[in-house]
Amino acid sequence: MKEEGFVNDKFLQDALFRLETNYFEKRKRLETIFDYELYKNITQKIKQKNINDLKTNTQSLIENLKKKDIDVIFAENAYQAQDAVLKILQNHDAKCVVKSKSLTTEEIHLNEFLKQNGIDAYETDLGEWLVQIANQPSSHMTAPAIHMSKEKIRNLLNEKFSQNLSDDLDELVQFSKNKIREYFDYTHIGIFGSNVVSKDGVFFIVSNEGNVEKVLLNDVNICIVGIDKIVSDIQEALLIVDFLPKAATAQLSTSYVDCFEKPFGEFHVILLDNGRSKLSKNDEFSEILQCIRCGACQNACCVYTTVSGLAFRGDAYAGPIGVLLSYLTGYKGIGEFANFCLGCMACDSICSSKIPIQSLILKIKSQYPINSIIKDKILDSLSNYSILRFSIKILSRFFKKETKLGFKALDEYFGFDFRAFPKPNKKSFDLTKTQKSNIGLFAGCSVNIFYEDLGKDCLEVARKLNINLSVIKQPACCGAACYYNGKQFEAINSAKKVSSTIENYDEVIFLDPHCQHMIDRDYSELAGIDLEASLQDASSYFLKKINEVQIKPMNKKITYHHPCHLLRGLKTSLELETFLQTVESQFVALNESDKCCGFAGSYSIMHKGISKKLIERKAQNITNTQAEILITACPGCIMQIDGYLKNKGINVKVMHFVSYLNTILGG
Ligand code: SF4
Ligand code: SF4
Repeated sequence: MKEEGFVNDKFLQDALFRLETNYFEKRKRLETIFDYELYKNITQKIKQKNINDLKTNTQSLIENLKKKDIDVIFAENAYQAQDAVLKILQNHDAKCVVKSKSLTTEEIHLNEFLKQNGIDAYETDLGEWLVQIANQPSSHMTAPAIHMSKEKIRNLLNEKFSQNLSDDLDELVQFSKNKIREYFDYTHIGIFGSNVVSKDGVFFIVSNEGNVEKVLLNDVNICIVGIDKIVSDIQEALLIVDFLPKAATAQLSTSYVDCFEKPFGEFHVILLDNGRSKLSKNDEFSEILQCIRCGACQNACCVYTTVSGLAFRGDAYAGPIGVLLSYLTGYKGIGEFANFCLGCMACDSICSSKIPIQSLILKIKSQYPINSIIKDKILDSLSNYSILRFSIKILSRFFKKETKLGFKALDEYFGFDFRAFPKPNKKSFDLTKTQKSNIGLFAGCSVNIFYEDLGKDCLEVARKLNINLSVIKQPACCGAACYYNGKQFEAINSAKKVSSTIENYDEVIFLDPHCQHMIDRDYSELAGIDLEASLQDASSYFLKKINEVQIKPMNKKITYHHPCHLLRGLKTSLELETFLQTVESQFVALNESDKCCGFAGSYSIMHKGISKKLIERKAQNITNTQAEILITACPGCIMQIDGYLKNKGINVKVMHFVSYLNTILGG
């Protein structure tokens, strides 16, 4: 199904909305008594240390298990793990097995493999069982059937088991649990995973349903666990066990924690490597192994919560962490999967072990670029400002006002069918003549091509504050447009050109946080460029220079949208919102003000369905405030939000924070 199919599935949308809102409401409440940041730091430290010790930890665990007479098998890859399980099952003449808490078995496609070998694997976790009987993949790390509405579950159960169940949730759960219970009568073999295991051989399983205990009571027990789950000792394991329910489901504690050295029956442990050892030595990507499989990044991801883990997925794993784990396992379709990411950084902010997910995804995109002729042509023109300047001249003749192209197919391709396209400038704004100064304005492509008024507002604010500001003549785009589209070579070229220009200034201010974030964070790693100039976003730079006497509030109903890169990347967006709250008596908070508007440059063309859905949700939230003015601090957000509101005829003025400052500043 194409992404539009997921976006237009009302049941799916309701289910995703419930997942997100329930999780964040609960998490907000828990934040009042639990220090998430502290536990994130602790988890990161524990995991980093154990990744460094992966080899010795694995060896210690193997030795310790052997000392306890436990059968332990080290599986280098998925095939070895599959074979090891099959051998054990064949030795017991097994025709079926029960399973619980075994996400790692999805990575090795165990159920399908066993089926091919005549063995049925029955899932006993409710969500896993539902997706299994629906013949679907699990779509969430901790809530595999979250994409299913109760109506869908009712239909599924009625059809599969010839029932006449209502959509009463208790009835559906009870029926399912009774069905699952039957499987325990068919077998005496259980397969399970482990959330964390200490290297002396103590296994921990965190769960909510109570079925794990039944699986563990079998005569034969097989535990399949990735070697990244090994920690030094029980104290470390307990810290992760304590954090997991708070991170995964925003519960203070989980209903069950099973902790054991050896279940009652025969015990086989399969330690799965499948790329983990190699990854642990990879400086760029080893952080992937820090993951504790909490699924919080999935709940926070605007793409995941728009199309679900059925669309934003690889072969085994879904969502932000899914991209990283698919890189680990060498999933062939990783390029396309990674390109679903629009770079909002919500995953980075929430990650329970502080994995820089977004920047790792960018690196993956660079290794597996997806080419498209139109997109590549646009990006090429951004990398070369001589071509860009020529294009602006042509475009400005073509578009006399905010308009569409007038060709249905092209308008649909570029997304002009749901948002108005801004009128291009007559010439690139960065050609504006200004006096020489050691403070430079890096206007960015959006301002250079479309928003010269914003550039002029910025110069005007500087004049009013007696700041001598010089417009930087850009040799190229900052490179973000290319880098976010997997064109690393072109991004590095742009970085080299832009950095040599920026080096001429002591301070550089930015109207587009995306440019600043790219130069600030990515130049060093991408091209080894460490700039000496101080980089600041124009809005907060000016705020520091303003005193209250100089301002005259607009006294209008105003609301504020956080640009992703300013909020989560540069971390200066909150101060802009606080300023508005203080100065504007009619300020009204925007619901989901931190949620991406869905622009992300060419993403809004390549993944139009997702982009459109995100801006629809943003516009609904804006309309609900009844504000006259929406302020934000990113030209990209303005293009998306203003374009959509105009297209819909919604009368809300959209302003950059710098333009707002120009309005309220006297002089
Ligand atoms: S950066 Fe945003 S869109 Fe990309 S994976 Fe993370 S949360 Fe999802
Ligand atoms: S990447 Fe981070 S947030 Fe996502 S599942 Fe792993 S630990 Fe949790």
